[in-house]
Amino acid sequence: MDKRNETKKISVGGVTVGGRAEVTVQSMCSTKTHDVEATVRQIRELQAAGCDIVRLAIPDMAAAEAVPAIKEQTEIPIVADIHFDHRLALAVAERGVDKIRINPGNIGSEENVRKVAEACKKRNIPIRIGVNAGSLEKRLIEKYGHPTPEAMVESAKTHIELLNRFDFDDICLSMKASSVPLTVAAYRLASEEFPYPLHLGVTETGTAWNGTVQSAVGIGALLCEGIGNTIRVSLTADPVEEVKTGVAILKAAGLRQGIRLVSCPTCGRTQIDLIGLAHEVEKRIEGMDRNITVAVMGCVVNGPGEAREADYGVAGGVGCGLLFKKGEVIGTYPYERLCDALIELIEKDN
Ligand code: SF4
Repeated sequence: MDKRNETKKISVGGVTVGGRAEVTVQSMCSTKTHDVEATVRQIRELQAAGCDIVRLAIPDMAAAEAVPAIKEQTEIPIVADIHFDHRLALAVAERGVDKIRINPGNIGSEENVRKVAEACKKRNIPIRIGVNAGSLEKRLIEKYGHPTPEAMVESAKTHIELLNRFDFDDICLSMKASSVPLTVAAYRLASEEFPYPLHLGVTETGTAWNGTVQSAVGIGALLCEGIGNTIRVSLTADPVEEVKTGVAILKAAGLRQGIRLVSCPTCGRTQIDLIGLAHEVEKRIEGMDRNITVAVMGCVVNGPGEAREADYGVAGGVGCGLLFKKGEVIGTYPYERLCDALIELIEKDN
């Protein structure tokens, strides 16, 4: 069952998150937010890679004050990431931010929560409550012994109730942990318990290779169960890599269209440099704005059959390869010409 359809919807600067809306990709700038020029440059790079919503760290007033200039020079919605200081939340709300990530249980008195809830409500600014297994309240660790899905859901409930008390319901939730099974279990439980859209992510996953695997398993498993409305891949790497990985995960889960490469694993029948060819094709089709499948297959035994299923494809022979388009053989080309011929064929139809 697709639980996505059952969630409430929020609007983040005009981008809908939740309900039947397309699952969006988020990332977070690694620049100092007060450095407007560097932050704007990075936001543009992220947007070009497919980022729909971007988050900025707001550790101090200088960062909050940079928000209007950043907003003026960029197009995608901006989320302010705030911890503990409600005055920063009030400052960014006044300065046109599109969403705030803050945990209302961590900002002091109920009066502080009321002020933030009212400031956000007045301007239709949603709030993401970000539960993190690594920073659960002490009383929950004492009650459950260690971070469990139930403890994380109870933490979310406490934060939600605080906002609901001030008639604030424009909420999105995340339930991140660095363990994939804990993350998946926590989101499953949250999707049963709460009507709010879910921001998916596995946190602190490590460098690009390890983080990609963990994110693909955790986020991918949930997306395939119909859980999750927006995603953020966390990598110890350039955030552009996070966005590329996020887009690839959505494509793999069948939730985003675009160009798709299929290639065989190679075996003893392969008679051309298929790995080299697949990498070259991948590089040259990256960024093409087409909704097509391109197949790069190693041999004429299984290759042509597979390649025929794709919109475009090649199947290797001895030092050469067959070129296919929608099941039709277009011709035979020497290996050196194969990649160019394939790309020319794809571009001709654009
Ligand atoms: Fe081997 Fe051919 Fe299959 Fe590639 S397509 S794995 S070369 S049999």
